[in-house]
Amino acid sequence: MSTIQLDIVTPERKVFSDEVEMVITRAAEGDIGILPKHAPFVSPLDVTVVRIKKDGNERQVAVSRGFLEVRPEKVTVLAEAAELAEEIDVERAKAAKERAERRLAEGSPDIDRARAEYALRRAENRLNVARK
Ligand code: ATP
Repeated sequence: MSTIQLDIVTPERKVFSDEVEMVITRAAEGDIGILPKHAPFVSPLDVTVVRIKKDGNERQVAVSRGFLEVRPEKVTVLAEAAELAEEIDVERAKAAKERAERRLAEGSPDIDRARAEYALRRAENRLNVARK
């Protein structure tokens, strides 16, 4: 089966780098499955999941905002933060979720609210990925 190189990087580290069969994620236009020889494009990524198919297995990565660059032979995800499912500290994500929910319940000013909503989405995304 033909493969495509996938690199997932953050400003801090390389999270994933390998040849894979398919990459599935949610780009600006909607859900997308990327196979080798895909037409080139770039898209922003919101808080989302990158699903990696290889050898009949699927791995998942929680991504917190970034960019997706697709070329026929290579997919690059540059994210603010990204964790493989097995790297996610569930207790930490639960605590972050509770903190964000508390801030939203307190009825804070708009700017704090937007930050809390973003933090809540990051935490929920991590919990979803860790549970799979
Ligand atoms: P927290 O409030 O727990 O720090 P956060 O959503 O504010 O969570 P980020 O700013 O998105 O955290 O990420 C900071 C760093 O911590 C990144 O390197 C990210 O990969 C890592 N990180 C955040 N939450 C977790 C988690 N639950 N498990 C593992 N790594 C995490």
